[in-house]
Amino acid sequence: MNQFWMLPAKIRDEMLRDGLQRHPEEACGLLFGTFDGRQGTIQRYLSVANHSKTPQHAFELDPAVWVRSCFDPQLIGLYHTHPSSPPLPSPEDLRQLPIFAAQIRLYLIGGRVSFANDKPPSGPDGFRIQAYGIDSNGTGYTLLPVHQENQNGE
Ligand SMILES: [Zn+2]
Repeated sequence: MNQFWMLPAKIRDEMLRDGLQRHPEEACGLLFGTFDGRQGTIQRYLSVANHSKTPQHAFELDPAVWVRSCFDPQLIGLYHTHPSSPPLPSPEDLRQLPIFAAQIRLYLIGGRVSFANDKPPSGPDGFRIQAYGIDSNGTGYTLLPVHQENQNGE
């Protein structure tokens, strides 16, 4: 699956800022944009309240916002953060995938990269966003890393 996504720097910074402001809880939100089957462009980020009872280890989108957003034809992606671990899908993330797979194409995780472990958890340099495409293999869903291009034009 050769997907290519444009993530404008302005929106990427909004997402990173949201993750840092809500640290040490997991931040979560929705992304809106366009996708033609191969190339996608993210146009807007909506920060959504995390309704999980254990927000430091999990996320649960505010159900009212999620349901309303499902009617938006531009809904395209989901973002959440791992406050103190790398931006890799957790077993729980994979378990929840079927809930989102019908509505979204792009799964973004913000997290701390291993080579930045010496930085303070809230330090902006320790956080990276990793993008995954949702792939259906017939029996379930998997996440495949996708190329992410940072647009300079703001
Ligand atoms: Zn996760």
